[in-house]
Amino acid sequence: MFNKLHLLGIFALSLAAFAQTELIRDFKNDLSKLPQEKLSTEVFDQTSPSMKLDSTGIKSGQFVGHAFYVFKEAAQALRGKTIEFRVKTKHVAGNAALGGTFRVSTSPGNELRVTRSFSLNIPVGDQFQEQSATFTVPNLDNIAHVNVQLGFRQQGEEHNLWFIDEPQFRYAENSDSVQLPTDILGLSALIDKEPLVLVEDGKAKFSIVIAAAADPIAKLAAEELQLHCQLALGADIPMRQESENQAIGGPAIHVGGTTLVQKFALQPANLPPESWIIARTGENIILTGGDTPGANRNQALSTRGVATGTLYAAYEFLERIFGVRWYWPGNYGTVVPPATDIKITRLLQTGTPSYSTRGFLYSIPRDKEISTEDFIRWYRRNRIGSANGSSMANHSFNAWPKKFGATHPEYFALQVDGRRKTDEVAGGHVCLSNPEVLKETIREKLEYFEKNPDAGFSSVMPGDSFGLYKCICEDCQKPLQPERGPGGIASNLVWDFVNKVALGVAEKMPDRYITCCAYGEYRQRPDFPLAPNVAVTLCYSAQPRSDQISKNKWRAMLDEWRQTGAALYIWEYWNNSRYSRGVYGAPAVFPRHLQEFMRLDQGQVRGRALELSNIDGDGVSFPYWTDWIYDVLNIYVVSHLMNNINCDVEKLLDEYYPNFYGPAAEPMRQFHDELELAWTKGNYSDGWNWETCWVKTYPPEFVDRMMGLLRQSVQLCAGQEPYLKRAQKTLEGYLPFERNSFLFREKKSQTNVPEITVPQGTVKPQLDGRPDEEAWQKAAVISNFCDSYNIYEQKAITEMRFLVAEETLFVAISAKIPPERTEINWADDLGERDSLLWNRESAELFFVGQDKECYQFIVAPNGKIADFKWPAENMAAALKWDAQGLQFAVLRENNTTWTAEIAIPLSNLTFAKPPQDCDFIVNFARNHRFQDAQDKAWKWEQSCWLPTYGPFHSYDKFGKMRLSK
Ligand SMILES: [Zn+2]
Repeated sequence: MFNKLHLLGIFALSLAAFAQTELIRDFKNDLSKLPQEKLSTEVFDQTSPSMKLDSTGIKSGQFVGHAFYVFKEAAQALRGKTIEFRVKTKHVAGNAALGGTFRVSTSPGNELRVTRSFSLNIPVGDQFQEQSATFTVPNLDNIAHVNVQLGFRQQGEEHNLWFIDEPQFRYAENSDSVQLPTDILGLSALIDKEPLVLVEDGKAKFSIVIAAAADPIAKLAAEELQLHCQLALGADIPMRQESENQAIGGPAIHVGGTTLVQKFALQPANLPPESWIIARTGENIILTGGDTPGANRNQALSTRGVATGTLYAAYEFLERIFGVRWYWPGNYGTVVPPATDIKITRLLQTGTPSYSTRGFLYSIPRDKEISTEDFIRWYRRNRIGSANGSSMANHSFNAWPKKFGATHPEYFALQVDGRRKTDEVAGGHVCLSNPEVLKETIREKLEYFEKNPDAGFSSVMPGDSFGLYKCICEDCQKPLQPERGPGGIASNLVWDFVNKVALGVAEKMPDRYITCCAYGEYRQRPDFPLAPNVAVTLCYSAQPRSDQISKNKWRAMLDEWRQTGAALYIWEYWNNSRYSRGVYGAPAVFPRHLQEFMRLDQGQVRGRALELSNIDGDGVSFPYWTDWIYDVLNIYVVSHLMNNINCDVEKLLDEYYPNFYGPAAEPMRQFHDELELAWTKGNYSDGWNWETCWVKTYPPEFVDRMMGLLRQSVQLCAGQEPYLKRAQKTLEGYLPFERNSFLFREKKSQTNVPEITVPQGTVKPQLDGRPDEEAWQKAAVISNFCDSYNIYEQKAITEMRFLVAEETLFVAISAKIPPERTEINWADDLGERDSLLWNRESAELFFVGQDKECYQFIVAPNGKIADFKWPAENMAAALKWDAQGLQFAVLRENNTTWTAEIAIPLSNLTFAKPPQDCDFIVNFARNHRFQDAQDKAWKWEQSCWLPTYGPFHSYDKFGKMRLSK
């Protein structure tokens, strides 16, 4: 497909014999439908009729013409293609020159976006002559029509007459290649033989010019240009604004739609969104691009929402001509080389971003030295953003419980316990087969788009934990396909709903997209094609994946979804190197790997959004980006790749170290190179856990050497700003890496003995929630719970007791909470049975057999219990299992203590393959979620009886339970 599109539609005339290329549209049959006065049945080439362009009865100055159109889907199919208009013409009388114009319009508003003119003039003669012009249709969304207008302008009284026959559109030979610009601007560049001097001996020889009616985007672009040129020159650069119809002479840099730019028909409103042009013509430089008309300054500054091609033209110019780089946010992140002599000979460069959505999630950190505004400006300068708002999907029914819970319970998902899920736990879950839900969703989306005319996308996506809460009514069950496994069981159900909403919206607003993630139980494609205004967000993790297996997997996912015909976008998880217990604080640096991987989806995926980490080196989650220094090089490189997938990454990196770190260039390069090598060459066959992280990928001696390079860099920069500041900040940013490495070097303290022998009781304890009966005195006791790595400090205290009596296992739980933790998630807002209790204050029991057969019980202090049987093909199946005769009681004594008693009849805990040398393989866990009194962040302690040094469900790390007979 096309890599980087040159957006100038270009013509080339050819009188050579026509090659037989694929036909797009033949207009010959349509000619006979024209009004009589435009038809000629006497003069034609092969078959009657032909069309005539006749000046009879036309006043001087009027245009005589006709346009040939391709509309809607057929027009949209031409995006990015080079097409050919063929026609036979016969010049019968007069001197008026016949010309043609390619035009592309988009909806809504039938907005004219691109025009390119060409000449079809031939002398008066007897013969029809074959003529042809080619044109590259720009890569625009929502093309309403592509057309060619033919005609001439009548001058005076002279009779002008042309015959037109066999007009048709064809794909050009090699229609996927984009024609190079050779139009009027390009020709103008050829005429410029003498260099244009912009800077001589460190002195500026130019001014900056904006139009009389310059809009906020042009003004912002001009300000950015002025600011950086002034930094490069250490002197003021004048900015001049044209007065009405008054051009300003050069040497000048024209930004946006000045009179000069209009002369070339390159004003921002005429260019495709986000495209940019930088060109020299004579004594002037033109910086222009496709902007959203009427956008205000705040929109232009934000990274989501409007097209700012003119601003991009300014940044491209500053990068290419003045060598400006925006490596980091904030003042000391920008590199502006001093300018001494800058001469321009020929200059004509154009481009448009390789991805229409280029964004990040959790993109702003808290940094005392760098403001939010600095971060946003940094993203803008690296051309992060999109023309139509965010294309990334998210759960879309979360407001429904409040809105319809009381009035329309039938809208909501039917649950296993027979109630409708009208609460807000885990977002909104609706009945996707209820026609009223569909109608209401379409209405809601249309209303949203009417209120937000700039928004190109809106989500339709079920709530999170769909597997657990999805509707189990008969009509929602029918389309389920359990044979497709957990990734496709609900694909037909969910995507059919999304598709119907998209079709409903398209009836009124065909240019707006309905977007949904390929996620959870609907992450595989449905069995049917999707409407062209469905946008699919593919979720993918940034695990290192330069190996062939990972590449094949990604390709397979793309190929699968491409068949649906939907527009594809990627949501990439860039956080997973440091997102789970055991790997907190682990960096991932992979600038070279990026291009290799992005090339796999080149031309197939329209946008990317990268989710950054909001969990810090201590495992605390925040609503913002943490440890940003880890990702900053990746982001600099990926920003350039999202703009131009073919950019030279090695060149970016070669410039980066000397430019940014000066005297510390070498150790800093070594630091990043070695980190990248370690991360991309790591062996992740066992998954990404503390061992692959801190033993195999970043072993202690490696971390010591890396931190040594950072400390050496600080020393090398001593007394040299801004390099010292940058080196210090980098070192500081990587301290969590060192700290976490040390956590896993220390010798682990003794954990519990992994065996429990449960005594037979003679008396059953009374189930009142208070385990104080004498019966409990002889029970087996476990305590001393630790985190799953036995590393992080745990302040929640848990004790459990076990007793067997009358073929029933009795369990007593005593849970204490540190007194300073006053805000606890008590799970009070959860539903009846089998809720997501593990997210809140709770305790969990696991009884496992061979083959991973497992019974799980979770009890919460507000009197809720959940029980599951694993493995199950999906959550709903696991939920359906209920232990027979289960009894329990819970008591919340005060804010710092809760207790529970549970009785599980042993007849429930049976296995197809029981454990060989014990009754159950067991482990026990405590969940404690609290709001930190100081920083107000919600924190989570998950402690367990036996640490598993990885995911908790590692049954081989569990202990043994034997019941006394
Ligand atoms: Zn339903």
